[in-house]
Amino acid sequence: MAHGEVTFLESVNRMFDRAVATMDLPPGLAEQIKGCNSVFQVRFSLKFGKEYHTFTGWRAVHSEHRLPAKGGIRYATMVDQAEVEALAALMSYKCAVVDVPFGGSKGGLLIDPRKYQEEDLERITRAFAEELIKRDYIHPALNVPAPDVGTGPREMAWIADTYQTLKPDDINAIGCVTGKPVSQGGIAGRTEATGRGVQYGLQEFFRHPKDVKGAGLSGDLDGKTAVVQGLGNVGYHAAKFLSEEDGVRVIAVIERDGAVVSDKGLNIEELSAYRLEKGGLRGFPGVDYVENGRALLEAECDLLIPAALENQITVENAARVKAKLIAEAANGPVTYGADEILRSRGAVILPDFFLNAGGVTVSYFEWIKNLSHIRFGRLDRRFEEMRGRQIADVIEAVSGKSVPAALRAQLMHGASELDLVRSGLDDTMREAYQQISKVLHENDDVPDLRTAGFVVSIGKIAQSYKEMGL
Ligand code: NAD
Repeated sequence: MAHGEVTFLESVNRMFDRAVATMDLPPGLAEQIKGCNSVFQVRFSLKFGKEYHTFTGWRAVHSEHRLPAKGGIRYATMVDQAEVEALAALMSYKCAVVDVPFGGSKGGLLIDPRKYQEEDLERITRAFAEELIKRDYIHPALNVPAPDVGTGPREMAWIADTYQTLKPDDINAIGCVTGKPVSQGGIAGRTEATGRGVQYGLQEFFRHPKDVKGAGLSGDLDGKTAVVQGLGNVGYHAAKFLSEEDGVRVIAVIERDGAVVSDKGLNIEELSAYRLEKGGLRGFPGVDYVENGRALLEAECDLLIPAALENQITVENAARVKAKLIAEAANGPVTYGADEILRSRGAVILPDFFLNAGGVTVSYFEWIKNLSHIRFGRLDRRFEEMRGRQIADVIEAVSGKSVPAALRAQLMHGASELDLVRSGLDDTMREAYQQISKVLHENDDVPDLRTAGFVVSIGKIAQSYKEMGL
């Protein structure tokens, strides 16, 4: 770790402390909110052929002022207890800032998923899930995981099936995990949700001219240049939507094996398809390839979107980062020390626990769908369609003119599940940003959006503790 740097967990805690210092909380309450309430570590073994493999995993519960506690499960070779605790803490602040009524949790399994065949990964996932289910660290009312780095809908389906096998009498069993395939109780739009939330969060930022000016920018997203790190679930969707729908020019994408650069802007769909086929970015036609991808974090651009992992912008490289706006799509990409350096030179940071909250927001919708046992829009979609047709007919009858076909089609469009999910997510990201921006502008002690976001979250959690009575 570079000189002057602290761990991810310490980073999150210092950012928390910085916000608490501007608040007026009852003595001791900040301590209760800050630390994890419980952490479970498990070791389990499985036999592959003649060989035993032992695995270590964690599930941390940070807060339980709302239940279930919510947070992804990560499969990676760098996971440890402190990382899982830091991520669980961020989940509490995330849920609070977007008004998702969950506590914060997170899980991790120390494994390189790329080293295992699919059937082996299924056995490992089911065994890990069983350990967590036995202790209520997976439970539709108490603790509900979701995908994170190294996991996706496939793993969530295995977890849901394991739970249902162990608890067949639980009518809400399918709500024990979110991010499932749509055919297995998932919800339309969950896979894209975090990237979509990044897009909606950025759109809302650009609806606040004062904040945009504060970053040394002007106008809206159209024509802005962006560098994206990580072309996984979050990075791919964010880059795709921003470039295809908002006119953002993605001039560089950084992956594990290097970066590709194009001043004209990269075609994200083609780049992602290429990477999936070839296993890396090298050789993508018509662009420059840079082996030391990390150097591109320092490229001249309007928006830097780290969407890979934590600790990417550190005290070592922060002073060289030139982006005006840093959009934290990943959790913890900017360390505490780097945050101070970036702020001192006027960069604006959209903090992780706000900007990547789209995933947990749509997970909340999925969980509600699971508990209500019905798809959103199933009851009212055709009714809305009929109402739209009636309105068009009435307009034609009273005006004597025909409603143009395109307008009639719009009027008659009954909302699908995906329409409703996107509408709910957009509303959530807008509301949350407005709350954060308000605190920033109304409180002189709050210097930046991250501190403002913490003030909003901690305030809501504190309020809940005060009202519940400890
Ligand atoms: P993912 O595994 O789908 O993608 C991560 C990508 O980053 C991969 O393509 C990987 O190759 C790349 N990567 C890893 N190390 C890298 C490096 N050093 N340089 C460049 N690229 C690197 O994971 P994800 O779900 O997209 O998660 C990314 C981040 O977003 C994580 O911080 C995660 O906690 C956070 N997040 C994810 C979700 C979600 O819904 N999946 C929700 C909220 C936050």
